[in-house]
Amino acid sequence: MSDHKIPYKIYLEENEIPRYWYNVRADMKNKPAPLLNPATLKPMTAEELGAVFCDELVSQELDDATRLIPIPEEIRQFYAMYRPSPLMRAYRLEKALGTPAKIYYKFEGNNTSGSHKLNSAIAQAYYAKKQGLKGVTTETGAGQWGTALAMACSYFGLDCKVFMVKVSYEQKPFRREVMRTYGADVTPSPSTTTEVGRKILADHPGTSGSLGCAISEAVEVATHTPGYRYVLGSVLNQVLLHQSVIGLETKAACDKYDIHPDIIIGCAGGGSNLGGLIAPFMGEKLRGEANYRFIAVEPASCPSFTRGRFAYDYCDTGMVCPLAKMYTLGSGFIPAPNHAGGLRYHGMTTTLSQLYHDGLMEATSVVQTDVFKAAEQFARIEGILPAPESSHAIRVAIDEALRCKERGEDKTIVFGLTGTGYFDMTAYEKFHDGKMTDYIPTDEDLAIGFAGIPSINL
Ligand SMILES: *Cc1c(COP(=O)(O)O)cnc(C)c1O
Repeated sequence: MSDHKIPYKIYLEENEIPRYWYNVRADMKNKPAPLLNPATLKPMTAEELGAVFCDELVSQELDDATRLIPIPEEIRQFYAMYRPSPLMRAYRLEKALGTPAKIYYKFEGNNTSGSHKLNSAIAQAYYAKKQGLKGVTTETGAGQWGTALAMACSYFGLDCKVFMVKVSYEQKPFRREVMRTYGADVTPSPSTTTEVGRKILADHPGTSGSLGCAISEAVEVATHTPGYRYVLGSVLNQVLLHQSVIGLETKAACDKYDIHPDIIIGCAGGGSNLGGLIAPFMGEKLRGEANYRFIAVEPASCPSFTRGRFAYDYCDTGMVCPLAKMYTLGSGFIPAPNHAGGLRYHGMTTTLSQLYHDGLMEATSVVQTDVFKAAEQFARIEGILPAPESSHAIRVAIDEALRCKERGEDKTIVFGLTGTGYFDMTAYEKFHDGKMTDYIPTDEDLAIGFAGIPSINL
């Protein structure tokens, strides 16, 4: 198909919503390292994980072998409310940049929660309901995950308790109200309602919180309340699995229109949207069927891939969760309060960590004023007001497109536009007022976090 026939907006049909999630671990030669029990340093068993997570999600978490996992019909029906999401051809942006590169983005912001997180929230709520649970607990950073989970829980009639990182709770009162509209109970973290919260507050008075702290609190409540389990919006293998719906739709749209991506870019907080977007393409690369460049983009203020260590570490500040082998800045690392709340996590999913370690993926970091420059440019040219997290991917997509211009290369670039930024206007305001700063941690700053990484040799 000739290029000009490709529409601005590529929609698949409703019946083209994937019927299976794709589990990239099945095609990895070097599997991600197992989660370890912090007490015994032995791999977590299904039984141990079952105390914290829903049973079906535990089996997905531990399954490194099954390539395709059926998406239950109830979940596909929910997906049909906002999926398939469009794959957009950024003709206007290409023209504005004067680049011969072709730029596409998969837009996940077209649902009320405003991000891709709903793709996994609905799956996790479904399995909790199926297990007969009363409710779930979780943490949220910027609030997108909490919002998505609140929507998913209200759909299935589940109770939802959200610990929201304090800095976001204060900066984003509207997100909190969206969650409450969907019936969720929202607590700023660290809080005095949990043992671990009280301890963190005693050790770090006045802390603005972090995802790691909020996770510890949510896990404590889940494990101390009968009929509750903990659910997580990123980092875990199960979340990457659910997010593969993004990549599968992207791949289907590319196949339908004969589009051949050269570079696939995504922002990386815990790694779930990127892991989902690249999954089927990575599968092809792992099987030797095709080659792609994959680029993870992270904030320079929280550089897990680009400056972190590949080691077993705690997933949470309170050290109550299993140990994961990942790129990490140390569970005690509390990043500067930058404006991409969804990217402020000290670690990275084990699957992407292993792929990055094996040289199958690249990573880069960007400073937030450059990110907001790209965000504003994108909003003005493409019309969509992007989330700060998503704008990390926009930044690098633009930079790659400009490199193509310098070199006269007509590469095809696909990036993940994970969400909208309507609730991030405080950050945009700082940017417009020239009050945004670029904080890059020094090696000494990072050394403090690294010192807290346990020394475990397998
Ligand atoms: C949470 C979030 C991210 C980062 O999370 P990942 O698990 O790395 O995908 C990116 N963009 C948006 C809009 C988010 O809400």
